Amino acid sequence: MTAIGIDLGTTYSCVGVFQHGKVEIIANDQGNRVTPSYVAFTQTERLIGDAAKSQVAMNPRNTVFDAKRLIGRRFDDPKIQEDLKHWPFTVLDEAGKPKICVEYKGERKVFAPEEISSMVLTKMKETAEAFLGCSIQNAVITVPAYFNDSQRQATKDAGAIAGLNVMRIINEPTAAALAYGLDKNLKGEKNVLIFDLGGGTFDVSILTIDEGSLFEVKTTAGDTHLGGEDFDNRLVGHLAEEFLRKHKIDIKGNPKALRRLRTAAERAKRTLSSSTEATVEVDALADGIDFHTKISRARFEELCSDLFKSTLEPVKQALSDAKMSKKSIHDVVLVGGSTRIPKIRSLLQSLFEGKALNFSINPDEAVAYGAAVQAAILSGNTDSKIQDVLLVDVTPLSLGIETAGGLMTNIIDRNSRIPCKQMKTFTTYADNQPGVTVQVYEGERAMTRDNNHLGLFELTGIPPAPRGTPQIDVSFDLDANGILNVTAVEKSSGKSRNITIKNDKGRLSQQEIDRMLSDAKRYKVEDDRQRECIAARNKLESYCFSLKSTIADYGDRLNDSDRKKVRKHCEETLKWLEQNMSAKRDDYERQYKQITKVCGPIMSKLHRSGSNNTTNGGPTIEEVE
Ligand code: AMP
Repeated sequence: MTAIGIDLGTTYSCVGVFQHGKVEIIANDQGNRVTPSYVAFTQTERLIGDAAKSQVAMNPRNTVFDAKRLIGRRFDDPKIQEDLKHWPFTVLDEAGKPKICVEYKGERKVFAPEEISSMVLTKMKETAEAFLGCSIQNAVITVPAYFNDSQRQATKDAGAIAGLNVMRIINEPTAAALAYGLDKNLKGEKNVLIFDLGGGTFDVSILTIDEGSLFEVKTTAGDTHLGGEDFDNRLVGHLAEEFLRKHKIDIKGNPKALRRLRTAAERAKRTLSSSTEATVEVDALADGIDFHTKISRARFEELCSDLFKSTLEPVKQALSDAKMSKKSIHDVVLVGGSTRIPKIRSLLQSLFEGKALNFSINPDEAVAYGAAVQAAILSGNTDSKIQDVLLVDVTPLSLGIETAGGLMTNIIDRNSRIPCKQMKTFTTYADNQPGVTVQVYEGERAMTRDNNHLGLFELTGIPPAPRGTPQIDVSFDLDANGILNVTAVEKSSGKSRNITIKNDKGRLSQQEIDRMLSDAKRYKVEDDRQRECIAARNKLESYCFSLKSTIADYGDRLNDSDRKKVRKHCEETLKWLEQNMSAKRDDYERQYKQITKVCGPIMSKLHRSGSNNTTNGGPTIEEVE
């Protein structure tokens, strides 16, 4: 069974498959090897990928992107509150969870971030299916190494909604390391630092690669909310101020103008990676006023200087956690589109005392490449290139429970290898205490209030006993996806009890996932229907045009009455089309039937009379020799 690897990115996604001894990065229907992680809703249809991104300026409120910045987070998360200022679409607070609100076919629709991500995943799945010519269920999906439990769970749920069997969630820098390591004939043990700065997330991982086949992650660090989009935001802010200064027009509350400025800013940012100056040109930005300006690389660097510098902290953190010196790193590998920024490269290079950085892997495709390799391994592919590959990953955050006084007691320490299982024994705090409520957290702070609350763990029915007597073994089982399961066994009575963690983090329930899965199927049916309808309209329209041009060129071979008949039907149908741009597929097909019934036989006559056109039923016309 073929399995695919999907890099579900903040701004772009990419899909790959391992076959015939190598990874193929699969181009989408537009011929692009990366697909924008965009979903748009219009009055008539739902668009995903390039089609969604290209209409964003016209439809900013209903074009959704950045779902990865929302996924697995709570609405009141300060990072979300900050992002809200930049998003042209509406994000609502629904029972503490952020939900995206759009207008679709004239109706208000509310989607969970998981659903938006599932739509992007569906697009990637379909891209792979079109290339492979078969249906695909199994996939490996990547997440930033620094994603926490909730974000991983939510990504897995997005996969389920897209109808995928998510074989494994793997870390992006680890996937990139696979791409780096497999490409070379590495001998001995190499320490590699992967610096992965994408559109919305930043990860650093240090791995040792042994003989090019054992990939062992030692440490990981990062920021799940730092990337190219933050640099775009700074540029947009700067440009909007300049526009206000020059023209006294504030575009802050104007989503359409902001969106157009953002597109221009991102383009300028990319230019500044290769030139020292970029022009920004947006015609009729607001109130019909054109905005033409220039920005220098130095100014851009100054605008983002704190963000750029902040990328060095996780590097230092990862090195110190791994107890490695900078000198012991053999290669610093750059991944993610934002590592093309010269200032980021030079900061990193100076940190490593002038060491040459490694740009050998494709920064946009490396993660999907690694995911495709892992997907092949997990589906039992025995190709000699990958059969010895072994991946050992680590958990980015410590996991523990709250003990008396609000203290965080770790059960699994950060950077522990996964999968892993750890157990600690706890007891009661009061005499005859009938039960315990255990709060599960992740994070590195001493007090649980500063960490991320994962869920509630309850154990009741403890037989009466003096405080400190009952023994409760709490086991944390971290699976290969980095997802946590908690179990408790109450031993004092000789009976054991298993309890699984209750997740109150606003994770989707199975019922919600099932509902979203059936919604997703319904949307797909609607999309297909819409596509078929457009195809029927195009078929009718192009038939009319081909008739028109055939008559113009060869009409003199027909008698007057036939020529008039064709012209009349052609004009009437084109007029009907103009007035019925959003008719039903059946209507288009009926019109097509009518016109071909009348004009088809006439065209055949024309064909017999010397022209070798093919308009006797089909919509195409070929050049006459
Ligand atoms: P990724 O998530 O790895 O695909 O990275 C996408 C991010 O890289 C987006 O924010 C892009 O704007 C950014 N990016 C792509 N190319 C360049 C470039 N030449 N210079 C600066 N940023 C870039």
